[in-house]
Amino acid sequence: MTYRIGHGFDIHRFSDDPSRKLMLGGVLFEGQRGLEGHSDADAVIHALCDALLGAAGLGDLGQHFPDSDPAFADADSLQLLADVVSLVHSNDWVIVNADVTVLAETPKLAPHRKAMETRLSELTSAPISIKATTMERLGPIGEGLGLAAEAVALLQNGQL
Ligand code: MG
Repeated sequence: MTYRIGHGFDIHRFSDDPSRKLMLGGVLFEGQRGLEGHSDADAVIHALCDALLGAAGLGDLGQHFPDSDPAFADADSLQLLADVVSLVHSNDWVIVNADVTVLAETPKLAPHRKAMETRLSELTSAPISIKATTMERLGPIGEGLGLAAEAVALLQNGQL
């Protein structure tokens, strides 16, 4: 039995465009300022995808879904995650679990945390935990210019 751990990080700046919606962990945060990005800018899913790809030794999200490709403009990150999970599974890896930390001054994550965990767990067939911390008003995230997410994921391969 082989285990592999992977780490992912993503950061996005808040958008001034009022039409941008805030999507985190595949959940819509109603009434909150959206993030800038080529896709829907779901930093939680992007960090999670990179952790999964990293653990499987399959590169990173930008390599599989280049932001220079118009096909991924406003891409639904839930679909990107579904594609990454398929890729991981087709390489004979099972996702054991993943753990995500969101770094943000706003919005409050607590009201949406369970919904995010449930949605991501369904898509990955694994327990996914979401945690949040502020940056104590330090640095660009602390000043509310954007938010970031970090993730670690563990994979298991049944082959000896
Ligand atoms: Mg991103």
